Amino acid sequence: MNNVHERFWRKVRLGPSCWEWMGTKSRGYGKFKESGKTLLAHRVAFLLEFGAIPDGMNVCHHCDNRSCVRPEHLFLGTDSDNVLDSVRKGRWANREGERNPSAKLTENDVIAIRRMRNDEGRSLSSIAALFDTNFRNVSRIALGTTWKYLGRLNRAQRNCAEGGANK
Ligand SMILES: [Zn+2]
Repeated sequence: MNNVHERFWRKVRLGPSCWEWMGTKSRGYGKFKESGKTLLAHRVAFLLEFGAIPDGMNVCHHCDNRSCVRPEHLFLGTDSDNVLDSVRKGRWANREGERNPSAKLTENDVIAIRRMRNDEGRSLSSIAALFDTNFRNVSRIALGTTWKYLGRLNRAQRNCAEGGANK
């Protein structure tokens, strides 16, 4: 086991925040070969530091940096399906979002509105006109005051994009 530790950490550049994997990568994730198998480096880092990863769990990044292997930046997450599921259940409980009979926008509309406002910087009134709603509604959506669970959803997906890639 010591041998593995040594081989693994030799490929890591320790930084003040993230610890970068310097070996081979695939889609941003570090790759580590052990006993003829190719493993995801951040999963190996977690394993070496904290022990076994429970079945079906993903190792996720707090820091959103796929090539980071610093154990403190890693946490166990459920499959993104489960994450989605629990987020959706939360929505049901709160009667937020498109299931709410008073909502006329769909989830896709909300995602599009946030992109137009927050990424493209379009004006509230032009977006409101496109979606046949008022600018106050658009503003609250863009700020995340309404449709909160969609923000959580995006974040959960991003942090756990690994999606069990190594299973
Ligand atoms: Zn990190």
